[in-house]
Amino acid sequence: MSTLPLHPATLAVRAGEDDYRPHAALAVPIEFGIAHGYPDVDSWEQVARGEVAGPLYARNSAHPTSLALEAKLAALEGAAAAVSFGSGMAAISSTLMALLKPGARVVAGKDTYGGSHYLLQHTLPQWGVQVTLCDTTDAAAFDAALAGGCELLYLESPTNPMLKVQDIRRLAAAGHAAGAVVVIDNTFATPVNQNPLALGADLVLHSATKFLGGHADAMGGIVCGSQALTDRIRHYREIHGACLDPMSAFLILRGIKTLALRMRQHNDNALALAQWLQQQPAVAQVNYPGLPDHPQHAIAREQMQGFGGVLSFELAGGFAAVRRLLPRCQLLIRAATLGTVDTLLGVPSTTSHVECTEQERIALGIPGGLVRCSVGIEDIRDIIADLQQALAE
Ligand SMILES: *Cc1c(COP(=O)(O)O)cnc(C)c1O
Repeated sequence: MSTLPLHPATLAVRAGEDDYRPHAALAVPIEFGIAHGYPDVDSWEQVARGEVAGPLYARNSAHPTSLALEAKLAALEGAAAAVSFGSGMAAISSTLMALLKPGARVVAGKDTYGGSHYLLQHTLPQWGVQVTLCDTTDAAAFDAALAGGCELLYLESPTNPMLKVQDIRRLAAAGHAAGAVVVIDNTFATPVNQNPLALGADLVLHSATKFLGGHADAMGGIVCGSQALTDRIRHYREIHGACLDPMSAFLILRGIKTLALRMRQHNDNALALAQWLQQQPAVAQVNYPGLPDHPQHAIAREQMQGFGGVLSFELAGGFAAVRRLLPRCQLLIRAATLGTVDTLLGVPSTTSHVECTEQERIALGIPGGLVRCSVGIEDIRDIIADLQQALAE
């Protein structure tokens, strides 16, 4: 590609592809072949034993289209290697199951994505893993949780749906001092806005379904980190089977080519919308790390290159006002995803925290009047105009 150090926007377009473009095609092909032939037993065995790199069978080594995606994400996150999966939850569950065993202790943020929260709260304890959930933005609560021992520290920043920001450098250092592997879900920030490995994390996870793909047309997940850790996770995928299909790999790969461009617009639109929402009498609270009065704004400025495309706001009228607002929107879409080019609205009970009971949502500090907005790349004037007419008396 180039021996010069490249910037993220260039990596997003070019990285990872050169080995997977036959005939110097500009696009990586969608390779549907799931098995690859070898001329004799010796050359075949060398690949099977891992002595020579090469494709074998798609669930083991992955097909070339997803290998290109893995190489591109590893370059963007500054990682030695990456492993792709069929969804973000497949990446998260496989990472946790590959690294933990009965008796292990996990400390995790209490407000993680609903599916991750369910894994931490219900699934892992069923397998004998002891999980302590705490508010990782509260230094005293976090230190007390770590003091009980910790083999794996699980974080998300910014969080879904309250947009809390974790001090990744400080938490990762404390996790390492306790002997933990530090894992962080970077879906909301994307590698364009935040690189957790450079801040001390060991593994960084993404739901590629969201900003990486960016167009709400493909599901995928990916984990990036050291060769040793990702080898263990790749072997887990080989046995448990949650691999990515070539068509989705292609769509995500193509989506990432415009990631830096899209994130610039997502960042700009979300900040403008957050500032506008703060001035609306119907809005009691706006949660966005780019606002100067956000509780962790200083940390966000330090560790993020942009504040991302997701915000949440609380309507003064509570859940009744949310029920009124959503159907009145004409342009904005009501849907349970985020990170697409369209502006989307969702409520925690139908999106991030569909797995939680109402009592659990209240315990997590998620107010009834909360609306999550994944701000798209449309003209910001149209986004604001739609919310303005929908909020009007
Ligand atoms: C959507 C999401 C996930 C899960 O990803 P899927 O691709 O839907 O399985 C995990 N973490 C975060 C922060 C998410 O937004």
